[in-house]
Amino acid sequence: MKTTKVLVCNVGSTSLKFKLYLMPEKNLLAEGKIERVGTEEAIYYYGNPDRNLTIYEEQQLVPDYLNGIQRFLNDLTGEETGAIRHVEEIEVVGFKTVLAKNYYGVHELTDEVMEGMKFYMGIAGSHNGPYMQAIEQFQKLLPSARFIGSFETGFHQTIPMERRIYGLPYEWYETYGIQRMGYHGASHGYIAGRIDEMEPEGYRMVSCHLGGSSSLCAVENGKSVDTSFGMSLQTGILHANRAGDTDTSLVPFLLSAGMSLEEINEGLVKRGGLYGISGVSNDLRDLEQAAKEGNERAELAISVFVTNIVRTIGSFWAEMGGLEYLVFTGGIGENSVMIRERVCERLKHLGVCLDRQKNLSGEKEREISAQDSAVKILVIPTNEEIEVARRVCRYLERRK
Ligand code: ADP
Repeated sequence: MKTTKVLVCNVGSTSLKFKLYLMPEKNLLAEGKIERVGTEEAIYYYGNPDRNLTIYEEQQLVPDYLNGIQRFLNDLTGEETGAIRHVEEIEVVGFKTVLAKNYYGVHELTDEVMEGMKFYMGIAGSHNGPYMQAIEQFQKLLPSARFIGSFETGFHQTIPMERRIYGLPYEWYETYGIQRMGYHGASHGYIAGRIDEMEPEGYRMVSCHLGGSSSLCAVENGKSVDTSFGMSLQTGILHANRAGDTDTSLVPFLLSAGMSLEEINEGLVKRGGLYGISGVSNDLRDLEQAAKEGNERAELAISVFVTNIVRTIGSFWAEMGGLEYLVFTGGIGENSVMIRERVCERLKHLGVCLDRQKNLSGEKEREISAQDSAVKILVIPTNEEIEVARRVCRYLERRK
C-alpha cells in the first residue's frame, strides 16, 4: 500500500489515547493521552519520538472530547512539537470501537454503522456513547479524513455457534442479536499475530488479557474459538470493578427486595469485581500489598480472580483438546509476578511448569516456562493500537 498516516484513537469513558503511525512501515510518529476528560484536573501527555520530546501536564482544563482532541492536534502540528505540518495529512482515523448491531469487523463509520452502535447503547453505553461523541468531533475537525472502526467483536467471529448461542428463546438472538460476542479483539488479535510469527505449525493457545477489564481467549491457529466475555462487557471473569459472570436471577430478586435498578446496576458495574470483594481497591497492586499485610478480603479477591482464570483456562483446554501456549498480557498479565505464579501453580497437574526466576524479571516480552513444561508460558506486552492500524490498512487495501 502507499505510505499513509493513520491516527488510531482509543476512547474511554473519561480518557482519550492517540497514536499516529506511518503505515505500512508501522513507525510511531506521535502519541497522546488525556485522562480525566470533563474536569479541570485533566492529565495531558504528548510524545514525539523523532524529536525526543514529551509533554506532561497536570491540572489541565479539558471540559470535553472536542477540547481534548483539539489540544492533541495542536501539538501534533505545532512548530516546536509537531510530527506533521497540517491536520489534512491525517488521511485515516481508526477507532478501537466496541459493539454495533450487524457490524463486527472493520467498517467505515457511516450513518448506518453509527445507528448499529446506537442500537446497543443499553449493552455497551459506557463505551459506545463516548466513541460516538469522539467520532462526531473528529468528523468536524478533520473533514477530509476517512473514519474507520475496528470493532472489538470482529476477532471473535470465528467462534463456532455452539459456543456463542445462549440457552435463551431463539428469537432473542434473531431480533436483538443476543449472543456471546467477545471483546479485547485488538489485544487477543495482536497476541495471536505474535504467536503466528513464532509458530508456523498448528497451535492452540489461551491468551489472558488481565487488566482493569480482563478476558481470556482460546485461539487455534490464529483464530479465536472461544472467549470468556459474553454479550456485554459486564461478563466473564472478575474485573477491577465489574462483577463478571453472575446469576441473572439476582436482578429480579434484588428488585423485589426493594433495590432500584440503578442501585443494582451500580453494584454490578462499579461496586463489584476486585473492589467489591476486597473493599480495599480496584487496583491489584493495592490488593497484593493488603493481602501481604493480612487483609483477608483482599486475599479472597485475589483467590477468586485466580480461580476464575484457572477455571476458564481449563475449560478452553478441554474444548481445544490440548494446549501449546499460555500467554499473559495487559497491565496485570504483564506486571503481576504473583498472579502468573498462582495461576500456573494451579495448573501444575496438567504439566504447566513455570520458571520462577524467569517469571520474576527480565525483558518485557519473554518465555517464563521451565524447560520441561508441557505448555510454553509467555509474557507478551499487548499493542492494541498497532493492531487497529494494521486492520484498518488491510481493510483499505481490500477496498482499493
Ligand atoms: P485497562 O484495562 O484499564 O487498560 P491496564 O491493562 O492498564 O488497564 O491494567 C491496569 C491494572 O494493571 C491496574 O489496575 C493494576 O491493577 C495492574 N498492574 C499494573 N502494574 C502492576 C504491577 N506491577 N503489579 C500488579 N498489578 C499491576
